[in-house]
Amino acid sequence: MNIKLLKPYGYCPGVINAIKEVKKLRKDNPTENIYMFGRLIHNELIDSLMNELNIKVIDCEYDKYFEYINKLNIGDIVILSAHGHEKSLEKALFEKGILFIDTTCSWIKTIHNKILKHKDHEIIYIGKSNHIEAVTTSLLTEHTYFYDIQKGFINGRPITNNPYVFYQSTITNDTLNKALDDLKNNYEKIKAYKCSCPQCKLRQNILSAEINEKTFLILVGSKTSSNTNSLLEIYQKITKSNNFIIVNSFDEITKLEINPEFDYLITSGTSTPNKTVLDIFKYLRSL
Ligand code: SF4
Repeated sequence: MNIKLLKPYGYCPGVINAIKEVKKLRKDNPTENIYMFGRLIHNELIDSLMNELNIKVIDCEYDKYFEYINKLNIGDIVILSAHGHEKSLEKALFEKGILFIDTTCSWIKTIHNKILKHKDHEIIYIGKSNHIEAVTTSLLTEHTYFYDIQKGFINGRPITNNPYVFYQSTITNDTLNKALDDLKNNYEKIKAYKCSCPQCKLRQNILSAEINEKTFLILVGSKTSSNTNSLLEIYQKITKSNNFIIVNSFDEITKLEINPEFDYLITSGTSTPNKTVLDIFKYLRSL
């Protein structure tokens, strides 16, 4: 059978850094209560790691974290996730005297800094309104209007005719362009600032270039991961087929029935452990 593993695969640098910081925090603080606000990244395997490290994951709507802070005690430690947060959460932790570490990915911080430079201008933020990166980024400035990629504007809309546009780092070009086309009906001149995560974009471009009519896609990642879903969106748009499987662990791949007529292509989301991807590749190569 033909099988190819696309590179890069496995964790992106942002995820590697976040995991490293969390492990070090537990090592340096073996007995303290440690809480994670939100999932570190969207992968069930990382949720298990949090269990092993005895870190309590508080996964709720963003504004509920402010209420949760009131239940914490001096000496407790909070981890802020790789997807980002806005400054009032840090302020609330600081005021309560709670230590925290910030694992926000450097790319997300870059986007935040760009937005904050335009805090007095009207901004449209394009994203998925149930994704923590999008929720927290849209809260950075008072004049940001959230444009959900499914529902459109959800909290009012700009009144000036030249708002600046930013968007969620993991969405595809197609999704972005569709939203921009719609927005241009009312805001002719808008142009989006570059927000695509280079790691996600690279995987999306490489996948697009490798797909052919015989491709069967093996997508390794969590169904809850936005960048994994973007890879699937690209595959389905190009092939208009359902010749794919999403797996998040080695066991799941062993159930796949192999058809020698397909070319098997493996790619992965950025929150997928490298070992899982490699084990799947080696298994399929051995068949
Ligand atoms: S996918 Fe991109 S934005 Fe998200 S953690 Fe990785 S490098 Fe950062």
